[in-house]
Amino acid sequence: MSTINSIKGFKDILPADAPFWQFIEKVVRDVSRRYDFEELRPPIAEKTEIFARGIGEATDIVEKEMYSFVDKGEERITLRPEATAGIVRSVLEHHLTAGGRAVRLFCMGPMFRYEKPQKGRQRQFHQIDVEVLGDAGPYVDVEVLSWLNDFLHGLGLTGLMINLNSLGCPECRPAFRELLVKFFTARVESLCPDCQRRLEMNPLRIIDCKNEKCREIVKDAPIMLDHLCGDCTDHFNKVKELLDLLGLKYKVNPFLVRGLDYYTRTAFEVLSDDLGSQSAVAGGGRYDGLCKELGGVDIPAIGFAIGMERLVMLLKEKAAIEAQTPDYYLAVLSEAALPVAFKLAKDLRDNGHHVAGDWEVGSLKSRMKKADKSGAAKTIMIGDDELGRKQAVVRDMQAHEQTELDLAPYMA
Ligand SMILES: [Zn+2]
Ligand SMILES: [Zn+2]
Repeated sequence: MSTINSIKGFKDILPADAPFWQFIEKVVRDVSRRYDFEELRPPIAEKTEIFARGIGEATDIVEKEMYSFVDKGEERITLRPEATAGIVRSVLEHHLTAGGRAVRLFCMGPMFRYEKPQKGRQRQFHQIDVEVLGDAGPYVDVEVLSWLNDFLHGLGLTGLMINLNSLGCPECRPAFRELLVKFFTARVESLCPDCQRRLEMNPLRIIDCKNEKCREIVKDAPIMLDHLCGDCTDHFNKVKELLDLLGLKYKVNPFLVRGLDYYTRTAFEVLSDDLGSQSAVAGGGRYDGLCKELGGVDIPAIGFAIGMERLVMLLKEKAAIEAQTPDYYLAVLSEAALPVAFKLAKDLRDNGHHVAGDWEVGSLKSRMKKADKSGAAKTIMIGDDELGRKQAVVRDMQAHEQTELDLAPYMA
């Protein structure tokens, strides 16, 4: 029979890589504890409608990239392509913001998109998501940015820079959108085919088109910051003031946009020197309109997502994270010593030690080779000699010193 391999675009995270993932997860939990953010674990599958409404029918994700299927109960189901829609669904369903309380949440886990697999892009990929729901004020915007900054700093990333913009609100954006449509309509011939399509569906997305010709045109386009209403201007100014107060470095970038209508006011990306100039480590912003879209309730919210695969790649380039090595390796040299060593291992483990051993009998030479390979700090050797003396030999692998350990408690 032939062997069965994994699904295209679905990768194993092997033991050699796991320490990088664990390190990232540990920093997420640590920063979240300090910022009073709680973990929410929504299911990985939701009703398809949630994503169609939450991400927008007209986006590439919903049109082409969703893992959707009809289950045996005729329910249309989708493996989550991103976390926000499910988190918002959960917050609304369980009334987590009842009584005007703001919830600060984080979530980590796999997401799924039917994309062409390539380097750093898989069909199952992982994201960290941070969302605060129930607070419309600028303090929370900066608190979220500060969480992100501390997290990236905690991973050891350097030269962090926040790119910041305001996308306005339902008061001021429609007029700006009209200006934009007018501007691009006059230049429609020069836009790339994607942007010609966007002009109808989603003109804001033209602003962050990567096409060279489009970028030339966008340079002269009107910018939202010149057309913010009074409240949006106040909010934006306060965000900048609070970033200064915390000493967080930022740059205003008027070309930073989010394509969907429910995004409001603060939008941001964080760049790091470790990634080169153009690409962001994380991006997010305020989405005050999404809850209404999904559940009819008006709950302001802000959040962002970070791809974990990319962070793992970065960490691997920067520094090795040592796998945890055992405190003890048990080298068993005779059949009779096996149960004694097995009992001793249990006792050591009960006392919190990391103990390795493979419950085979072998020569001293072959056992020591395995002990070396395990990276254990100490090797405990038990053979017939040791049983006779009721003393095991404990070798410190670094210092090459030997001591003895009383075996009597482990011998029947
Ligand atoms: Zn406004
Ligand atoms: Zn374009």
